[in-house]
Amino acid sequence: MIIVMKKEATKQDVANVSQMIEDKGLAVSVVDGQGVSVVGVIGDTTKVDARQLEVLHSVDKVMHVGEPYKLANRAFHPEDSIIDVAGVKVGGENLALIAGPCSVESVEQVVEIAKAAKAAGANMLRGGAFKPRTSPYAFQGMGSNGLDILVEAKKITGLPIVSELMDASYIEEFEEKVDLIQIGARNMQNFDLLKKLGKVKKPILLKRGLCATFEEWIMSAEYIMAHGNPNVILCERGIRTFESYTRNTLDLQAIPVVQKLTHLPIIIDPSHAGGKWWLVEPMAKAAVAAGCDGLMVEVHNNPECAMCDGPQSLKPEKYAKLIKEVGAIAQIVGKKV
Ligand code: PEP
Ligand code: MN
Repeated sequence: MIIVMKKEATKQDVANVSQMIEDKGLAVSVVDGQGVSVVGVIGDTTKVDARQLEVLHSVDKVMHVGEPYKLANRAFHPEDSIIDVAGVKVGGENLALIAGPCSVESVEQVVEIAKAAKAAGANMLRGGAFKPRTSPYAFQGMGSNGLDILVEAKKITGLPIVSELMDASYIEEFEEKVDLIQIGARNMQNFDLLKKLGKVKKPILLKRGLCATFEEWIMSAEYIMAHGNPNVILCERGIRTFESYTRNTLDLQAIPVVQKLTHLPIIIDPSHAGGKWWLVEPMAKAAVAAGCDGLMVEVHNNPECAMCDGPQSLKPEKYAKLIKEVGAIAQIVGKKV
């Protein structure tokens, strides 16, 4: 349920309405929009009588929200959420450009890629230190040492760090070292982990599960938000379909759908979607044209020898060309670059 206040409603009116709801044992989420305040009601709304609220002089209308997600719902928060990642704004008219290797391999590798990515226009550095590999025999990542290498690269380039967390026991370490905590496709519905992320002070990058519907994905964001962390960025990375030529099928419809249903930023990962480096450029351009809030692209200085995902990684020169071209498209769709 959402309560739309009248334009002339005062802060005290909003506080009074909120108190009425809270007195019934429900929670509220108040958003002060452009000229109008919206009071979102979270919990068992059968306890609230809409007609009684509409009698109040300060209330314009009461609307029922059909979707099971509330805090993530666009109706609760009509304006785009802008998420701050160590000073880099994500959402609205901003374009997040996250680049870096699939896996952290050495300090030389990460620093070289980070410098090249920054020179190309990237505003965040990615790198996996804990890798969710299909095979238990494949490289599992450098672990905490990998995070330290990312911190080193941040000191040199100033780029905020994005890295994947798989195990709740590392939350404190990630909170200390990582600026944007990535939750991978395979952990999108690890509900215990999501609940714990609600208590974290850092923003979360929530990737879409391999077979997740939009509603399931948004409900996972809702878990994090309902437990106290409103700073969630969604990332479409391709879904499983019958097609096997490409690694996954990039669902670009996720951009307008997510923007319609939620106020959260959505970024696109064309690297894990296609699984082939030559698919990255056309899909990244299409994503920006469709209005996404950012791109996460795997970049490697020596893809032939990469420990993970070399075939889908761009060399720095190709990334620089991509960002230049994407910049022109971004301007057309009203994004700052
Ligand atoms: C990654 O970004 O390194 C990754 C493993 O992605 P996903 O969870 O989308 O497979
Ligand atoms: Mn990868």
